Amino acid sequence: MPELIILGSSNAVPSAGHANTHLALITPERRLLIDCGPNPLISLEQAGVDVNTLTDIIVTHFHPDHVASLPLLLMDMWLMGRRLALNIHGLDYTIDRLIAMLELYDWSEWSNFYPVHFLRVPMMDRAVVLDDDQMCIYASPVKHFLPNICLRVELKTSGTSLAYSGDTEPCPAVVDIARNVDFLLHEATGATTGHSSAAQAGEIARQAGARALYLIHYPTGRFAGGDILAQARPQFAGQIVKAVDLMKIDLSTTPY
Ligand SMILES: [Zn+2]
Repeated sequence: MPELIILGSSNAVPSAGHANTHLALITPERRLLIDCGPNPLISLEQAGVDVNTLTDIIVTHFHPDHVASLPLLLMDMWLMGRRLALNIHGLDYTIDRLIAMLELYDWSEWSNFYPVHFLRVPMMDRAVVLDDDQMCIYASPVKHFLPNICLRVELKTSGTSLAYSGDTEPCPAVVDIARNVDFLLHEATGATTGHSSAAQAGEIARQAGARALYLIHYPTGRFAGGDILAQARPQFAGQIVKAVDLMKIDLSTTPY
């Protein structure tokens, strides 16, 4: 059954029970990780996914809460005897810095390392990130402090669709990529430069015609900012859910 697993739901400052936002997309063909702030070795184990079956990683942008654990994850999989090739997808800006970060660790000297393929996503609307028998994933640039992407996943077997805003101010690219999706995961950091509030996420979901809105990348712990569901509700009449760590979204059926 295709599913999306919320591995972490927090904004850049995590708290107990809320890791930095990272996601796993599971289909019969692929085990795909989206972002890698905290080490997903632990969250994947908690979710019951074998880390060494990961086929792809999509990195939305080069901020520490989205990339910081990538060298550790790659090293850990190597120490666990991984032989399977790994695809890492991102914009040029992101891939260049990921490679530079790994080179600081002299990773080319880690002997007998499994193949890692860096796949560069074009900086354009609805760029195709990957397309296989099960799904197609598109990416569009969004409005953040540095080059960053939102994503749209279309499942070919079930016909369900999912979009993830990434970190962004409210922007037309997310409305476009989330057009009529079944599930929109939208960040709700707050109404600050480069980010969105829960109310703004609701407005984007309404404009896009999404069926369900999942709020994610929100302030947690001592920074938690009240009832984000209530803040989004006046803007969006569809189902609104607060994404929490280890929540699973069944992508084999549409919401309701
Ligand atoms: Zn960011």
